[in-house]
Amino acid sequence: MQGVEERAKESVGRPVRVAVIGAGMSGILSAIKLRERGIEDIVVYEKASSLGGTWRDNTYPGLSCDVPSHVYAYSFELNPDWSRRFSSGSEIRAYFERVARKYDVERHIRFDTEIIRAVYRGGRWHLTARDGRDDAVDAVIFATGVLHHPAYPDIEGLQSFAGDCFHSARWNHEAPLEGRRVGIIGTGSTAVQILPAIVDQVAKVSLFQRTPQWILSMGNPSYAPEEIAAFRASPERLRQSYDHWADRFINTFARAVVGDEHEMRRIEAACRQNLEESVRDPELKRKLTPNYKAACKRLIMSDTFYPAIQKPNAELVTDAITRIERGGVRTADGALHELDVLVLATGFDGHAFMRPIEIVGEGGRTLDQAWANANEAYRSVALPGFPNLFTLVGPNSPIGNFSVIMISELQLGYVLQLIDLLRGGCRAVAPRQDATDRFNRAIRDAMGGTVWVSGCRSWYLDRNGNPALWPWSFERFRQEMQAPDLSEFELVA
Ligand code: NAP
Repeated sequence: MQGVEERAKESVGRPVRVAVIGAGMSGILSAIKLRERGIEDIVVYEKASSLGGTWRDNTYPGLSCDVPSHVYAYSFELNPDWSRRFSSGSEIRAYFERVARKYDVERHIRFDTEIIRAVYRGGRWHLTARDGRDDAVDAVIFATGVLHHPAYPDIEGLQSFAGDCFHSARWNHEAPLEGRRVGIIGTGSTAVQILPAIVDQVAKVSLFQRTPQWILSMGNPSYAPEEIAAFRASPERLRQSYDHWADRFINTFARAVVGDEHEMRRIEAACRQNLEESVRDPELKRKLTPNYKAACKRLIMSDTFYPAIQKPNAELVTDAITRIERGGVRTADGALHELDVLVLATGFDGHAFMRPIEIVGEGGRTLDQAWANANEAYRSVALPGFPNLFTLVGPNSPIGNFSVIMISELQLGYVLQLIDLLRGGCRAVAPRQDATDRFNRAIRDAMGGTVWVSGCRSWYLDRNGNPALWPWSFERFRQEMQAPDLSEFELVA
């Protein structure tokens, strides 16, 4: 074994072909960094006809990112031009398009090519696209995202609605909103952004709330032209802004969610104060008050939701939905809420990692078999029995804690070190089963100290009720992603 490691480390001479699945934030990043590493034989498979991942799929009114823009960017490609603290979705999408152009990523992308099958055979991954084309590669990086598959609510009569009905991630821009009665199901980050964006346009908006949410006010000032000019003039200043927002997240929010009670009390107090000061009517305030800890569900940042829900044409409906009818939504009190448009802001299946691609590893074992009980990866990035296959933002990545771009960069840095082994004397690299089991046991043991299991329902929880998140600090994550511990891997010469 030692011999393989030594040989693998000493040279990076063997040419390798690497496939990346998905041309969103992580896929673009992978192509850039693989090239920087000297790997030119790269193909990025993208099922859609343009890049951008979640920022391509989501186009709903009010779409923005609630991670400050200066830290929601690649660390090597900071952007001085962000217009506001929290930029709009279209600005973010344009950023990714610009970066992809600058780094000449598009020439590697095969658009409109959906990979449906990946089989490990003879030391290579054999990929098959929906149109029958195939490819064989030495390594594959799944950059397929987390919040990718819309979750549709299982509500009786959903199909019978006569008006326009669509999921927030499949916004129908043909459906007019002006002067119409619009219903929104859900109270997550998405619904909270949509409602303020449309309230002044529509005749009436009804928000169907199953569970109230804690909302933190962060302010969203725009950057003045002189500030943007200063960021442009000084890369150092831009870097300081990145570091400032990264530190704020890491030292407050990221600590709070994994057990720092002091920080958590501060966050909860800020949410309570926001609700107290922003909502006048005591009955509405009562309805908007959650009965679980702040940040148990993904904490929402918004300055616009509370003002919007108090507008005369906005209504908060808290009676449970019993069914959907031709004319609107029927609630448990018997009322029919008549609607012209129904928006399903009901979130995503955040546990369908890499699906629906059929993935077949060593000995014909499928991913579905390997994950029959739970999605268990080694340090979120690799799987025993699936050599030379890597995932970015896979199971138990710290997605609820800080900028997903930082996460992806750190994970990719780790993955590239494993791919380097393939360029040396190593044909196959996969984590050991015992190391993977140890890692997942430690994750489960640590989860008890996090806020996500403190008593709420959220998309973080998998079918066993375990959060698919990282239960430790950012420092630990960064540390663990520094370099692979090769004693925890099987290496084949
Ligand atoms: P979400 O947080 O999962 O919220 C889904 C909402 O739909 C919840 O309020 C849920 O109620 C409700 N719901 C689901 N099924 C329902 C049913 N059958 N009847 C009634 N209500 C139902 O989804 P999301 O708002 O799309 O956000 C998902 C994630 O995307 C966020 O947590 C965040 O990570 C990301 N996101 C980020 C931003 C950003 O600015 N960075 C913006 C949007 C989204 P319950 O709470 O009762 O389950």
